[in-house]
Amino acid sequence: MDSLPPMAQPAILQPEAVLRSVFGLPAFRGEQAEIVAHVLAGGDAIVLMPTGGGKSLCYQLPSLCRPGVGIIISPLIALMRNQVAAMHQLGIKAAALNSSLSPAERASVRADLRAGRLDMLYVAPERLMMPDLLEMLDETQIALFAIDEAHCVSQWGHDFRPEYLQLAGLARRFPGVPRIALTATADMQSREEIRRRLCLDDARMFLASFDRPNIRYAITQKSAPQRQLLSFLHTHKGESGIVYCLSRATVETTAAFLQANGINALPYHAKLDPALRSKNQDAFLAEEGLVLVATIAFGMGIDKPDVRFVVHLDLPGSLEAFYQETGRAGRDGMPAETLLLYGMQDLVFRRQMIDQGGSPEDIKRVERGKLDALLGVCETASCRRQAILAHFGETMAQPCGNCDTCLTPVETWDATTASRKALSAILRTGQSFGTGHLMDVLLGVTTDKITRFAHDKLPTFGVGKELDRKGWSSVFRQLVVRGLIEVDHEAYGALRMTQAAEPILRGLEPVHLRHDSAPAKTAKTKPATAALSAAASGLFDILRAERSRLAHEQGVPAYIIFHDATLAAIATARPTTLQELGEIPGMGRSKLERYGATVLAVMAEAARV
Ligand code: ADP
Ligand code: ZN
Repeated sequence: MDSLPPMAQPAILQPEAVLRSVFGLPAFRGEQAEIVAHVLAGGDAIVLMPTGGGKSLCYQLPSLCRPGVGIIISPLIALMRNQVAAMHQLGIKAAALNSSLSPAERASVRADLRAGRLDMLYVAPERLMMPDLLEMLDETQIALFAIDEAHCVSQWGHDFRPEYLQLAGLARRFPGVPRIALTATADMQSREEIRRRLCLDDARMFLASFDRPNIRYAITQKSAPQRQLLSFLHTHKGESGIVYCLSRATVETTAAFLQANGINALPYHAKLDPALRSKNQDAFLAEEGLVLVATIAFGMGIDKPDVRFVVHLDLPGSLEAFYQETGRAGRDGMPAETLLLYGMQDLVFRRQMIDQGGSPEDIKRVERGKLDALLGVCETASCRRQAILAHFGETMAQPCGNCDTCLTPVETWDATTASRKALSAILRTGQSFGTGHLMDVLLGVTTDKITRFAHDKLPTFGVGKELDRKGWSSVFRQLVVRGLIEVDHEAYGALRMTQAAEPILRGLEPVHLRHDSAPAKTAKTKPATAALSAAASGLFDILRAERSRLAHEQGVPAYIIFHDATLAAIATARPTTLQELGEIPGMGRSKLERYGATVLAVMAEAARV
């Protein structure tokens, strides 16, 4: 095995050798090699890579290979702990400085830093910029600054952190120390803002493909969300996942509903008691098979690799948000599944939020565009992934074969006549009524309201019996999405025709709409271990139990000991010597020393019975 020279040695270490010996990985992935080489040579970098793309290695390796300590700026204290634990498992000397430490612990980290005993220091931005720490760093050899979740400098997204703006000062104070900013945010505005606000003018930009081929997308109409959720979860028994809801109230009721149905679910939102909130987050990270029901307050920086599904019970505010949130699934590259439920209420609500929000008009315009991009993906009859990637400036030549529209092709129908009837109902009732009443008109239902306004006397009354209420609500929704109808928030959701609908009303333009299919019964994504033979899968379970025991003993999440992929590789290859075991991806030198003998013993025992 390669042996690592003492870390204090001021020479630059060979990155490939460290990749193999410390991380146990056979090769770089994608642009990692180039990024690492660039930073090793002292260059600044902006790294845009989707979640699970392997960003961490881009600063961890140069931190080890360059002389001095790598300073890693991360916005979330709760997650630094896990990252430091993961580094310790690899035999890397890492520490974190944040407000959760006791004064004694803080003093000990500072002493290690001063003595040059650290390879990596994780620190929150506000702490890094405190004068005393900066003064200490003036006297310390620094390998690099890594600014993780760099989109936090951007005021466009909902992750904005004012303290990130101060990080611009690092350029002046530490000239010659490379800075690498990383984010999984695909947002075009954020990319430019990162460069400008962090003074990364000369940084090289590394832009990876944002495709996440292992994630399956499905979007369907919201009818009975709790029941739809339950039926989705039935195909994901024992797996970890996130269910996003818009409001705290829905988070609470949904978590309670799932618990009542025998599903291990916990709530997470900003107003939850802080102790309980972090307890639930820790449980989600540490336990297997837990469903976290959360608002968007949850998720940034979550590096749990085995999140197998992400469900949205409400429409996110933009395609960017949708992509970031679903991106938390399948970090480990194994199959993962997402589901978004949405209906007319959602899109009306989201448009209203933008219109009535406090942003200046030019920002509102951008926000509307991002919402419309998401709605376009929701209503497309073609491949979802192609539509999503197109929005991020990527062209995908072929349909993906791993989204609901690819797996169950959607039919469209000629809705020209239906659309004209819908528009006519809106006009003849004076553009003052919502969908419910308009459907009564079209279907010829006599209600008090219909009689009161004498709408049963209209020529449109009862002309739309070829569709049922579901059919009409689908028509109205799609016409709203296409901007042919708008919803007047001031007038209690009354529908109005827009200019764009003129030619349709006059019969000059055809309209083709999507058939709202029954919730797609897509084939279940294969569980992460499906590729294993029966024998290997038995061994995988045994190894997993052993991993649980080790994790419990050390009080760390199981994935910090070994990823599922590593266990699956062991169960398949069945190594019998330490040498062979060391060849398994994810089995670095330190893990081999710590667990090699145990793993071999467990396998020998399993082979005997
Ligand atoms: P990101 O921070 O971009 O979301 P991570 O750095 O957490 O992604 O890496 C995602 C997963 O990919 C991790 O399980 C990591 O071990 C794995 N990984 C990263 N680089 C490589 C590589 N070169 N070879 C194999 N696996 C890798
Ligand atoms: Zn597709």
